Amino acid sequence: MYLRLAKRALLETDKRLVAKFAWLMGYKGLRSVVKHKSRLKRGEFFPPFLYISVINSCNLRCQGCWVDVAAKQEKIDIAAMDSLLNQAKAMGNSFFGILGGEPFMHADLLEIFARHPDAYFQVFTNGHFITDEVAKELRRLGNVTPLISIEGSEIISDERRGRGGVYSKSIEGIENCTRNKLLTGVCTSLCQTNYDDLLQEKWIDRLIEMGVFYTWYHIYRIVGPEPNPQLALTPEQQYQARKFVVEMRCKKPIAIIDAYYDADGNALCPAATGFTHHISPYGDIEPCPVIQFAKESIHDERPLKEVFNESEFLRGFRELAAGSTRGCIILERPDLLNEYARKNEAKDTTVRGAAYQELDELQTNPSQYNPGREVPEKSWAYWLLKKFAFHDYGAYGRHFELKNWRPTIKDGEAINQSPSHPPLVQLETTIPTSADK
Ligand code: SF4
Repeated sequence: MYLRLAKRALLETDKRLVAKFAWLMGYKGLRSVVKHKSRLKRGEFFPPFLYISVINSCNLRCQGCWVDVAAKQEKIDIAAMDSLLNQAKAMGNSFFGILGGEPFMHADLLEIFARHPDAYFQVFTNGHFITDEVAKELRRLGNVTPLISIEGSEIISDERRGRGGVYSKSIEGIENCTRNKLLTGVCTSLCQTNYDDLLQEKWIDRLIEMGVFYTWYHIYRIVGPEPNPQLALTPEQQYQARKFVVEMRCKKPIAIIDAYYDADGNALCPAATGFTHHISPYGDIEPCPVIQFAKESIHDERPLKEVFNESEFLRGFRELAAGSTRGCIILERPDLLNEYARKNEAKDTTVRGAAYQELDELQTNPSQYNPGREVPEKSWAYWLLKKFAFHDYGAYGRHFELKNWRPTIKDGEAINQSPSHPPLVQLETTIPTSADK
């Protein structure tokens, strides 16, 4: 399987792009993790991977989206991006996830990539703006991998994304990328309407046939102004999704990403572990893209190094999130997050000004944490990579105790409770504030 994957990388993509990926994302990406670990040992903090939403606008209106896509356009301009990227690179970072809205609606996006040839960019996109010409330019630049979202079969996808023709246009974007031999990815936010169609071996085979090199399964997050909780996966479905990913990694010549588990199958949250944080189109520094609260901004006068190192809000968030669950705090404990944000008087970073109200209305839901049902990696390559570079960096050892975890109760039953879990206890979690330090 590894040989088939290597053969695909060499024959189906541009070798220059593979070399750039290996250097900028492979070597330098791992080096950024080493630097992150050294900082943690010294009691310092700067996340090795940053996700940056460069623009709020989008041409689609997807169900469950949390971004104010219809609000007045706001974007991070070239000067602010230069400053942000240069400061992060000075800390040893080399990889940046680029989100939106729809990132390709940012008129200067390609210029930004061109100005930072020593960094690697993964662009989360619907693919509609990737024409043959844009794909050619991405190939020339060499430091970008498009990650195109497909949210179901044609009918489902178009319903999920708010209008007809969305699916075929995204497929066209993928074809433009693969025809130009880009290292192309496809991502899916797994939910009730696409679970049966896309968590399938035949879908993985189809991606390989199309020349797609990697795929990323997210799990649908119940957030935003229209959270659509009926779309969320059950704990059993999340468990089956994890098993599927682990099996397919050993079988198919395509890389498969999931960002919620370590090498031994223990659940984790990349924001709680400090692996990543997020910058909004307005410059707000948020724990992660769906947690729209902040106390700091990239537009503050302090250098980013100081902001991340000294942010009591982000530190407190990591401790609270890691102390309450190994899964996703906004799914499992919106009440704690709500209390934390209020106590710390965090700014609601949405334009709609409703982030607090949305949290008030969120019910508790199960997330990737399903104790007793861990699925360890079977592929030695993923196992090794995760052991070295994708784990909890000690966050759960320091903060998490199973006895303080609260399973999700539906109709009077704990739907994700491990058989070994003690009877429900009253939570003793204390909500930290800046004043506690
Ligand atoms: S809080 Fe939830 S959505 Fe945010 S990074 Fe953690 S697991 Fe993902």
